[in-house]
Amino acid sequence: MRIVLLGAPGSGKGTQAKKLVDHYGVIQISTGDLLRAAVAAGTPLGLAAKTAMDSGQLVSDDIVLGMIKERLNQADTQRGYILDGFPRNLAQAEALDGLLGELQQTLEAAILLDIPFEDLMQRLTGRQTCADCGAVFNRFTHPSKQPDICDACGGPLIQRGDDNEATVSKRLTVFEEQTAPLIAFYADQGKLFRIDGTRPIDTITEEFHDVIERMKS
Ligand code: AMP
Repeated sequence: MRIVLLGAPGSGKGTQAKKLVDHYGVIQISTGDLLRAAVAAGTPLGLAAKTAMDSGQLVSDDIVLGMIKERLNQADTQRGYILDGFPRNLAQAEALDGLLGELQQTLEAAILLDIPFEDLMQRLTGRQTCADCGAVFNRFTHPSKQPDICDACGGPLIQRGDDNEATVSKRLTVFEEQTAPLIAFYADQGKLFRIDGTRPIDTITEEFHDVIERMKS
């Protein structure tokens, strides 16, 4: 299985990717997670990416493509993968097609999690992530049972630095301008599937399973 997850920040891509990983035994490749790890480790790549990330802009294609190329050449990708947060613009999508050609792989689907623009601000500013296990909650739409404590492992829930109102509105504009054109790009390739992302998490996961079954047949 080789899938791209498309959707605005806050559409639930990360949440669904984790569920697909558990169900299908594939891996999730999130460029946002890879970049945050590089920032936390203080690597040169992390330092170069930090300013763009803090202001809600895209990190340069060179950095992101270098990272993806290295990741897709690792052995654990043979079982399949879900790309989460990549590609983010047309240049990255074209570069991905080129890279997959070199690796003699094809992308099977781009699955879009569709959410009305108005819902995204609340989803993002309410988002909380477990510092220990990465589980995702939302103070408004999917709260943890005890405030600020992870239901899954009891770890502390933290808010991402870029989930504040100013950065969120920049990230949403960047999505509209740079990432939304990928919907037409993958529709033209006959690889686009749309899922209504406003429904309960488990209903969306079931629809992912249906789409993946359809994709295989
Ligand atoms: P995410 O966790 O996917 O929302 O990404 C967080 C931030 O990392 C984004 O706002 C960008 O600054 C950066 N980022 C993640 N993926 C990419 C990408 N494919 N291209 C450029 N920047 C990215």
